[in-house]
Amino acid sequence: MRLSRFFLPILKETPKEAEIVSHRLMLRAGMLRQEAAGIYAWLPLGLRVLKKIEQIVREEQNRAGAIECLMPTLQLADLWRESGRYDAYGPEMLRITDRHKRELLYGPTNEEMITEIFRSYVRSYKNLPLNLYHIQWKFRDEQRPRFGVMRGREFLMKDAYSFDIDEAAARKSYNRMFVAYLRTFARMGLKAIPMRAETGPIGGDLSHEFIVLADTGESGVFCDSDVLNLPVPGDDVDYDGDLTAIIKQWTSVYAATEDVHDAERFEREVPAEKKLNTRGIEVGQIFYFGTKYSDKMKALVAGPDGVDAPIHGGSYGVGVSRLVGAIIEACHDENGIKWPEAVAPFRAAILNLKQGAADTDAACEALYKELSAKGVDVLYDDTDQRAGGKFATADLIGIPWQILVGPKGLADGTVELKRRADGSRENVTPAEAVARLT
Ligand code: ATP
Ligand code: MG
Ligand code: MG
Ligand code: MG
Repeated sequence: MRLSRFFLPILKETPKEAEIVSHRLMLRAGMLRQEAAGIYAWLPLGLRVLKKIEQIVREEQNRAGAIECLMPTLQLADLWRESGRYDAYGPEMLRITDRHKRELLYGPTNEEMITEIFRSYVRSYKNLPLNLYHIQWKFRDEQRPRFGVMRGREFLMKDAYSFDIDEAAARKSYNRMFVAYLRTFARMGLKAIPMRAETGPIGGDLSHEFIVLADTGESGVFCDSDVLNLPVPGDDVDYDGDLTAIIKQWTSVYAATEDVHDAERFEREVPAEKKLNTRGIEVGQIFYFGTKYSDKMKALVAGPDGVDAPIHGGSYGVGVSRLVGAIIEACHDENGIKWPEAVAPFRAAILNLKQGAADTDAACEALYKELSAKGVDVLYDDTDQRAGGKFATADLIGIPWQILVGPKGLADGTVELKRRADGSRENVTPAEAVARLT
């Protein structure tokens, strides 16, 4: 992508309305535009990151055996009357009436709809286990939308729903999602800690929230600092095998949200120097809720004995759009964003430090063509900005690798390769720069 042809509306001023660094940086970097309270347009740079995150979530869901579908954003109120949640959900639900006076709502979550789909087709335990997920926009009319994408009203969520014949099987499905979440967040460069959590309006008796520690987080949490150093399963993890050892390792170290915090146990189990009482961002939550929806909505399957019984369910959410903000909270400095490579909008940028000079123009064009041909997602800053402005832009938008092409270096046959993560720089030949990035 040539920056001169891209759409990157960088803001010079720090927007006053933004209270936290991720929101400020997303606005300054031209990733996002607020259209109404808690409702945002994703500009091209922001969309690139959102898509990268979405794809990592998708790959890890698929790896764990979940199957993607896509349910609509609008749902019938009557469906929610079946579960009793139409009235229970309260003012967070956006209720809509169509021209025929039919009552609809913009889905805040999808337990009812997926249960309706499931019960329409699945009759036998032989079709279980089943886990269906989608990545779809949700709407919750939050009392206080704030912090940009962290607490939007319209936001992108991955939500998966598991169906099993009994509790033992459902716990296996829960464990698969638990492990998938460990892998998902680690691939994005995040430490997200599974913490025992309240089940809230989803219901049920077993739940973990995945929390990224951050002072700006809205959740209070307590944990043993050892939990920060546990190993994340590799991509060879066997989802058909026994995952209980991994789950045990992660759940035997104390980690709980303030809602379910057990002060006595914390005192007893965690040595003083390892006690952490801090704040965090909830980037995902998993629930086992048993037969809560299948009872009310008659989602029954025949077991091996031929007798119909309600299925045991779980649901598993990831805040895809919230993650964009959470990653920035974890990865930035005074100059801007430092994207982990896996989610960066571009892997590399080429900065032409003397636009219009024959030698730098030619070297940049050649690099741009070669990197693009080799499949590297590269942004070529071919604008008329001064060198200082180009440095600032590349740092602000957080491109992990920057190739600085100036006349002095070129005279010696070199360019500078800068790493955004640690600011390190190295003089290399253009060919070496290409080799490093491919
Ligand atoms: P919160 O406690 O932050 O209000 P929640 O517990 O209500 O979130 P869940 O129902 O567990 O949210 O939804 C799954 C995930 O969706 C959450 O873990 C979070 O990452 C994301 N999410 C929830 N509400 C919002 C929101 N208003 N804006 C952005 N992401 C959200
Ligand atoms: Mg909420
Ligand atoms: Mg919550
Ligand atoms: Mg939650």
